[in-house]
Amino acid sequence: MLPYGRQHVDATDVEAVVAALGSDWLTTGPRVARFEAELEAVAGAPCVTVTNGTVALHAAYAAARIGTDDEVITTPMTFVATASAAAMLGATVVFADVEEDTGNIDPVAVEAAVTSRTRAVTAVDYAGHPAEYDALRKVADRAEATLLADAAHAIGSTYRGRPVGSLADLTTFSFFPTKNMTTAEGGAVAATDPALVERLRTFRTVGLVRDRAKMRYPEEGGWHQEVHEFGLNYRLPDVLCALGSTQLARLDMFKQRRAHLTARYDELLADVPGLRLPPRRAWVDPLRHLYPVRIRDGRRREVYDRMRAAGIGVQVNYMPVYWHPAFEDLGYRRGMCPVAEDFYAEQLSLPLFVDLSEADQDRVIETLRTVLGG
Ligand SMILES: *Cc1c(COP(=O)(O)O)cnc(C)c1O
Repeated sequence: MLPYGRQHVDATDVEAVVAALGSDWLTTGPRVARFEAELEAVAGAPCVTVTNGTVALHAAYAAARIGTDDEVITTPMTFVATASAAAMLGATVVFADVEEDTGNIDPVAVEAAVTSRTRAVTAVDYAGHPAEYDALRKVADRAEATLLADAAHAIGSTYRGRPVGSLADLTTFSFFPTKNMTTAEGGAVAATDPALVERLRTFRTVGLVRDRAKMRYPEEGGWHQEVHEFGLNYRLPDVLCALGSTQLARLDMFKQRRAHLTARYDELLADVPGLRLPPRRAWVDPLRHLYPVRIRDGRRREVYDRMRAAGIGVQVNYMPVYWHPAFEDLGYRRGMCPVAEDFYAEQLSLPLFVDLSEADQDRVIETLRTVLGG
């Protein structure tokens, strides 16, 4: 089965990981700090690495001090963790509907969802296309809420010339193998405020305070460390940061390859009936994680099944988050975000990854054309 996404690993990655394995550090060593500095250069803000994109969201919400009695406004057109990580901290998740074409959270819907309890607004850069950050910033500031970006799809993308990572107060990344770059499991949080960076660092290290100047009991002894706020062990190991550095060094190449394959889909699918192709705002330069098409006339399930039967691993991204039984059991009901529900009903992600050959891409295009009768 041709996958919808997969990693690109080469000899420089393998060498870097082997070198890390033979070094003095397996967990927190020099490769963590180096990878974080390199990430900062791409994201435009200091970055704290963590063990995956889900816990990046948990750490970001914790750093923003999201808890019981707080409301977090987010999009239903995302992976469940964008919302569930806030729910696990006791917050109430409020879903705002999406823009009809990009599938990104609609700033007008966010504005309408703001209440006196709103503490955070979390956008998702769906498929790698940045959300409407200038408008979201205004709404978040008026609400005195923290602006978060779940950029699991979007490392390497820019919005009005500014990199994803510098657009929100807190931005989370995922380095899962299907994403734009990988560390196997891995993730990071970028933060524009130094106080948030420090809170993230402490949180991912079980909440341990090791700086004597900040201790309540600095005279306890040389061995002493103390916890002021609870945290967890979310550290990304040196071995995986080694992989992150060599992957990040090829991010521009990944972007070019994905842009090339996207342009080929755009061109070769333009005249297929019953098909709608993904949009792009003039002011964004996306690193495309997904190629999400829309299948009209109620034929999405049929197309999914027939493409899969032909050995083409298409995917659906995403079922609206509040359809998950865990949210349904909390009282969320279908119909809440009709634009997102219509988007879901038609959505299909075609294979897109660095090593996708043009011959395989042509097979995807021809199969889709045959199924849709174009
Ligand atoms: C992949 C993904 C995550 C979670 O990242 P993991 O590294 O798989 O835990 C969160 N949000 C979105 C939008 C994602 O696509």
